[in-house]
Amino acid sequence: MGAERILHGCVLPLGDPSHDAVAISCGRIKAVGPLRQVVRLRDDRTVMVDLSGKALLPGFFDAHTHFLQTGLELTYFVNLTPARSLSDALEMLGEAARERPGQWVVGRGWDESRWPERRYLELQDLDRAVPRQPVCAVRVDGHLAVCNTLALARCLAPEGELVDRDRGHLREEPAWELLAGIRLEREEEVEALAEASRHAAALGITAVADMGGGVAMRAYQAARRRGLLQTRAFLYLPWRMLEALVQLELERGFGDELLRVAGLKAFLDGSVGAGSAALDEPYADAGTRGTLLMDEEQLTRLWRGASDAGLQLAVHAIGERAIELVLCAALATGTIPEDRHRVEHLELASQEQLGRMATLGLVASMQPNFVANWGGAGGMYETRLGVERAERIDPHAWVLERGIPMAFGSDGMPMGPLSGVAAVLAPPHAVQRVDLEDALRAYTMGSAWAVCADREMGRIAEGYRADLVVLSADPRTSPREQVRVEMTLLGGERIYERR
Ligand SMILES: [Zn+2]
Repeated sequence: MGAERILHGCVLPLGDPSHDAVAISCGRIKAVGPLRQVVRLRDDRTVMVDLSGKALLPGFFDAHTHFLQTGLELTYFVNLTPARSLSDALEMLGEAARERPGQWVVGRGWDESRWPERRYLELQDLDRAVPRQPVCAVRVDGHLAVCNTLALARCLAPEGELVDRDRGHLREEPAWELLAGIRLEREEEVEALAEASRHAAALGITAVADMGGGVAMRAYQAARRRGLLQTRAFLYLPWRMLEALVQLELERGFGDELLRVAGLKAFLDGSVGAGSAALDEPYADAGTRGTLLMDEEQLTRLWRGASDAGLQLAVHAIGERAIELVLCAALATGTIPEDRHRVEHLELASQEQLGRMATLGLVASMQPNFVANWGGAGGMYETRLGVERAERIDPHAWVLERGIPMAFGSDGMPMGPLSGVAAVLAPPHAVQRVDLEDALRAYTMGSAWAVCADREMGRIAEGYRADLVVLSADPRTSPREQVRVEMTLLGGERIYERR
């Protein structure tokens, strides 16, 4: 039987320089090679697609997302960026509230520095604009959420540096927790996932690991049934569900070609931005050094439980103390590389810690966009950590040097593999520079490795899924602004084409 489709006339930046054609059949890659060989698979129903010199890569795989949240940002949430004044923003929120009586109203993107009033939104403002339903409005930087009285009632965090109840101001974790706890009608969640999937396809993304996977199971299943999910999603569920999964005897990989359970997600510390990442030494701008959210005994028990159950652990660890805790638990449980347990973020790992990490066979799940967001002189990292620590944050190059498997993702801040790749090619601290090919591998086969799907995706090779992205130009030889996503294919089917 011949191929259904043959893509030809392309360059393969991660492949053999002599290869310029890929044959696809039944959703899989049937052959890769020079056109004169691949063309033997052509018959009268084969569609020939001439890519005229464009670049072909495996579809991007975002190894750390919050997919539902991304979708809600694109659909349900009220975009306050166009608000030209504080009263304008209140007007927009009030209107949204009238459109969806009884439901949550969530606004995003307000920026008081562009308003004539020149002040933050306050609880009293929101109470006036939306008196009878919960409303929450997130500032443009994502670090401050303002609530009305009804929304604030859902916040369980204690009053303090991050929670100012008089003003209705929540910062960092308390804000994210409140947002993550907002549940909408299932239809809205399904539409959000569909939109996230469309958006992902336009960015060249064909697969994601969803670190908040547990909150959207029903919506995911509905979207998948109705053909609205066009992204392969690997779900990481809250670690507290270990018992339930053990009872179900449900192992990693359970699901189908689009929707699968991968493992469990646990948090060991917070973030540098919130001053809650667990550091060895105090923050440069505060006397504190962050807090650990688990102790060694707790993590060891979880680790052993996950390994025994055949589930992968994805452990959020940013500061040196959190990373140390991971390494101790991994050693204590005798973890083996086949478990492929992952460390999420791994921002402040020392050289010595990375050495132990390599021996233990743990996977590094990193977000190259973070350095672009917060690195550099005067950036958030430098303010909170001081120059010395800011120079060794997000150690992508060291991770590669140690031979640690590295997966790239975005944490939804925002999604965008091409901008993530660009960030590590020219980081603020040159010592952490990563080659283009290594960065592209981390965003494709590295991520596939990190979810144990490296034998079916992440490469353009015979037998692999035909999840592909066509770029307008070869990123090795063209300036970044000329490299755009032209077309995305999932299982050989076109899911995006640039107009
Ligand atoms: Zn995350």
